[in-house]
Amino acid sequence: MNSRPVWNRGWYRFAHAMASPNFGPRPPDTGIDLVVIHAISLPPGTYGGACVQEFFTNRLDHSAHPYFETLRDLKVSAHFFIKRGGELMQFVSCDDRAWHAGESSHAGRSNCNDFSIGIELEGLDGDTFTGDQYESLNALLPMLAQQYPLKHICGHEHIAPGRKKDPGDGFSWAFLKTSTGWDDEFFSVK
Ligand SMILES: [Zn+2]
Repeated sequence: MNSRPVWNRGWYRFAHAMASPNFGPRPPDTGIDLVVIHAISLPPGTYGGACVQEFFTNRLDHSAHPYFETLRDLKVSAHFFIKRGGELMQFVSCDDRAWHAGESSHAGRSNCNDFSIGIELEGLDGDTFTGDQYESLNALLPMLAQQYPLKHICGHEHIAPGRKKDPGDGFSWAFLKTSTGWDDEFFSVK
């Protein structure tokens, strides 16, 4: 019998771990109560490959594509990344502060990175997402809710309106409401 715990210092047992150096401590006594959903693909709209993983771990070859030049001085990360086939990866312990939201605010609180967990879906705003991705997300969310005092879930576009558009209209919040069974107040998606 394998008795490894489901959570080990913020790392989820069923995610493929690839540690990113792009993180820091959360402010003391921060309640981790928000989940932020994102979409990313590199170059935008190209799926598969390892560019997102390389980007989050500062190993992207910036000369490989003109778009990558625009990312040269950026250091970002997310806690989780869900690929098109549903594969779940983790880059930062959920106990730590990942760098996914940037300038943002939720319900009057700024700097959402302080109190949120960031989940990136391989995709693009405007595109849809795969059944495997929803399945993986639906497996992860209840486990997060067991471990952290979650109160809200929303998209990057909702905490940085005008600046960010992900995950976009192709993401089905209605589907997520049904599958999680979380009440409407949980979803800050307007
Ligand atoms: Zn985003």
